[in-house]
Amino acid sequence: MISSSNTSSSGDLLITAKSREYSRLIAEVIPGGVDSPFRCFEEVGGHTIFFNRAVGSLLYDLDGNSYLDYLGAWGPAILGHCVPEVIDACKSAIELGAVFGAPHELELEMAKLVIAAIPSIENVRFVNSGTEAVMSAVRLARGYMRKDLIVMFEGGYHGHSDATLCSQGHSSSAGVPISASRNTVLATFNDLESVRQVFNWHKGDLAALLIEPVCGSMSVIPPEPGFLEGVRKLCSEHGILLIFDEVLTGLRVARGGAQSLYGIEADITCLGKALGGGMPIGAYGGSKEIMSHLQPGGDVYQAGTFSGNPVTMAGGIATLNLLADPQVYKTLECRTSQLFEGLQSIINQRKLPIQLQRVGSMFAIVFAEQPVKNWHDHLKIDSKAFAKFFHRLLAAGVYMPPSSVDAACVSAAHSESDIDETIKIMSNGLFY
Ligand code: PMP
Repeated sequence: MISSSNTSSSGDLLITAKSREYSRLIAEVIPGGVDSPFRCFEEVGGHTIFFNRAVGSLLYDLDGNSYLDYLGAWGPAILGHCVPEVIDACKSAIELGAVFGAPHELELEMAKLVIAAIPSIENVRFVNSGTEAVMSAVRLARGYMRKDLIVMFEGGYHGHSDATLCSQGHSSSAGVPISASRNTVLATFNDLESVRQVFNWHKGDLAALLIEPVCGSMSVIPPEPGFLEGVRKLCSEHGILLIFDEVLTGLRVARGGAQSLYGIEADITCLGKALGGGMPIGAYGGSKEIMSHLQPGGDVYQAGTFSGNPVTMAGGIATLNLLADPQVYKTLECRTSQLFEGLQSIINQRKLPIQLQRVGSMFAIVFAEQPVKNWHDHLKIDSKAFAKFFHRLLAAGVYMPPSSVDAACVSAAHSESDIDETIKIMSNGLFY
């Protein structure tokens, strides 16, 4: 609810006085005022919002306004915010020591839970972010295969390591050595023929194919029927490892990730985001045979002072236990389909050029004439129309990712009435 007297609007932009002032102050000490560029409002305009509390489905800002949260912290907040079981578990852990730098019981328990949730994982390593998980998985695949070349997909996002920052699109960067991009080749998502071609062109040189089974950073792109099955088959035929980047989809689209939803077995799986109950986390795992190539037993190096941190493990265990209740996924499905049914009928009535795309509770409201199926389609998204929509929602108390292309998330804390209210607000926001 936007209730603060500190709040006004200028044209399409919401102005909240304290957030505006803090956005200015923070930009003097942190480049762009953000620790991760996705967070800034560059695409949508206006100043960032400073939050000081988050509970259930709501975010609270410094000016006293509250927002229904569909950012979900970019994925982690699958159960909503301030989940009592997660808070209790993390508190108990920190009281026993925040960090040991040595193995501990919570690591053992968490590893067992991850292995039970994701059948293709027999052994797992915990790290501190999705970036680290994918970077380490790629190194492991290269070390295991004794080959350097990795296939990725145009526009895919796999975090900010040099190894993966060379997919065409918003995730490219200066400072990545040209030699790093020489070791990756690109195919087109949802286009099996492009994968086949790349495999044939580079026969004998490929270590692995790295894929987000559902793309979450070019809107939400589900795999076309048969695509992932085809990719799996080609990888097996060519003797190439299949790495599933499930940093976003893991736990979110199903407890066992997209691989359980689509029935595909990955060779290496990367996890993060929702896995830590809000604590910083990443993980990667696969068969015992592949994972045994990591040091100390093998010769592939990966390490981390904070990896397997007790507080993170405690948050993760509590989260995985809560997600073992199938009712959570029923609720996520029910709320997201309620949202989509409401929005679809408005879009149909008004014949709006908007596509609704989702898998489970990760969704995108796509301002485009046609569904987005790959990177080329995603270039047609009307980011100006999205920016207007974003600010209308913000002014009415709904917080979406400040990006026309990144996945939004429903949480299990969203109530039926939250969704009804959101549909009303979005309906008003969809007047052109
Ligand atoms: N892979 C995917 C599919 C992601 O969505 C992200 C984060 N958006 C990452 C990797 C990187 O994760 P992190 O931001 O935790 O480093």
